[in-house]
Amino acid sequence: MIVAQLPSLLSVARNVVSSTVLQMSAPLPELASLASVLSAVATRAAWPVKPLLLAVLDGVSEQPPSATARQALPMTVRGHTRQSLRDGPLEALAGEIESCRRCARLVSWREQVAREKRAAFAGEEYWGRPVAGFGDARARIAILGLAPAAHGANRTGRVFTGDRSGDFLFAALWRAGLANQPASRARDDGLALEDVWITAAVRCAPPENRPTPAERDNCLPYTRRELALLPNLRVIVCLGAFAWDAALRLRRSQPRPRPKFTHMGEQHGDGELVLLASFHVSQQNTFTGRLTEAMFDAVLARARELAAR
Ligand code: SF4
Repeated sequence: MIVAQLPSLLSVARNVVSSTVLQMSAPLPELASLASVLSAVATRAAWPVKPLLLAVLDGVSEQPPSATARQALPMTVRGHTRQSLRDGPLEALAGEIESCRRCARLVSWREQVAREKRAAFAGEEYWGRPVAGFGDARARIAILGLAPAAHGANRTGRVFTGDRSGDFLFAALWRAGLANQPASRARDDGLALEDVWITAAVRCAPPENRPTPAERDNCLPYTRRELALLPNLRVIVCLGAFAWDAALRLRRSQPRPRPKFTHMGEQHGDGELVLLASFHVSQQNTFTGRLTEAMFDAVLARARELAAR
């Protein structure tokens, strides 16, 4: 029945999107309901229908772009969509995070890296600041990493953007129908996520990817506040033992003994977000085969199952 409705749904979607772009007015009420219908259909639809639906959704905005988003992103039909824009509180929190200088060691390191740069990026202006989360404000799934990479997010200003870890992660999200493109190159590359929010336990690039416990404790309140602003959140996918430990610390009740990190391990609790563990998407794991594409596809599939409960 859903498939039978597709031609008319797609036709209506295109007309509404075109009309809205031409008028450049506030989103129409019909747009929100249309996005909702398409989103539901896209979630259930099988390949090859799903990419087509997601492509249409990519042009449908339920929320007017924020000032920050308008600056960062072109106003095009395939530009940014409802979910990848930050709403008010998320945007305010992002501003707070991005101006934080609480950890002297990390501030010094992130700025030194940004000044000295890697030769391959010598012509680029590094971000050199803390990195806020990114994704769908209505996400049911959060992906929690360790911290920005020195020449990845610390260069581009968006989590998992511009490095090999991000290449692996976003390709998987795209295969799963959770991202509109398989790569994340820059803040203005048009990437939009569906049902996923990506963030990190520590927001500044640490030397050797190793924040101290004090730096973790300084930064974790940002993650707590950010995740609390995602009303539909059900599951946190923890990339690696550091993120697993950090997510456990975010719980209201601390399980004893503390559950050990194991790939595909889960932690459930009354009234708590479900934690799902995965090996980190770092090159160290993906180049050695410790984490394969199939393994990570299974992680995302399980996350979706848990989110739907
Ligand atoms: S790691 Fe977190 S708390 Fe420390 S300076 Fe960066 S943003 Fe601030």
